[in-house]
Amino acid sequence: MAFWKTWLEKKKVLIADGGWGTELQKRGLPPGESPEAWNISRPEEVRSVALSYVEAGAEIILTNTFGGSPLKLAKVKLEGRVGEINRRGAEISKQAAADRALVFASIGPSGEFMAPLGTVSEGEMRGGFGEQAKALAEGGADGIVVETMMDLAEAKTALQAAKRTTSLPVAVTMTFNHGPKGFATLMGARPEQVAVALEKAGADIVGANCGAGIDQMIDLMKLLRSATLLPLWCKPNAGLPELVDGKTVYRETPEMMASKLKALVQAGANIVGGCCGTTPAHVRAFVRERNLLLG
Ligand SMILES: [Zn+2]
Repeated sequence: MAFWKTWLEKKKVLIADGGWGTELQKRGLPPGESPEAWNISRPEEVRSVALSYVEAGAEIILTNTFGGSPLKLAKVKLEGRVGEINRRGAEISKQAAADRALVFASIGPSGEFMAPLGTVSEGEMRGGFGEQAKALAEGGADGIVVETMMDLAEAKTALQAAKRTTSLPVAVTMTFNHGPKGFATLMGARPEQVAVALEKAGADIVGANCGAGIDQMIDLMKLLRSATLLPLWCKPNAGLPELVDGKTVYRETPEMMASKLKALVQAGANIVGGCCGTTPAHVRAFVRERNLLLG
């Protein structure tokens, strides 16, 4: 299996997978239940999500380990099973990918604030992310993606923990909102500042995921690109979630999102996938569009 850089050189733009949470919900995951617990209790359902993205043509798929840090798993009383849950998550995606896709294992926010804002020390945070990253590497992941981060300090801690405990490439993507002063994370960090800080902290890839849809992602890629030459990874949501008749609906269709791929690439994106509300159909449309644009 070629390393991600070789793949990126060959394809110019790599297509990553789409949403996992929304796909697991379609398979019966009840709201409020830990998706990661399914790596142990319902591995076939988890495998079918991974496989659906590989079959859609994604060159990079993630893992069902977004909430697999000890602090996050403690909220569902599973902190004693961090190793097993993350190892299995990586193994399931690797099995589904076979030689067709690379597996970047997902690490999401801990759900806690770091001191002095919160009660968790930096050391505890680093230890937890390190334990998760180590298990993901043991499960065979080709890389790690620290994603949906809203606090730059936590993102850097997770990045450094993954770098210390594994030899894998690490991508870090943060979530930005657009306010009156432009784009910023929930904690107030601007995209350019994030790109510089994460590059300095050793990230191999930086980017943005989640958020308000693909148009904002184009603007975000321009801002990140103005501050770094690292490969940029983006996973936009299929628009903002809307509540219709008690159900969460995402409005951006595969065709609509794929029609913006060219603009995303021109803005600087190198890896394009989807976040909440995107499906295998979105990934298939991205692949088709990429092949049309780049041959
Ligand atoms: Zn999302």
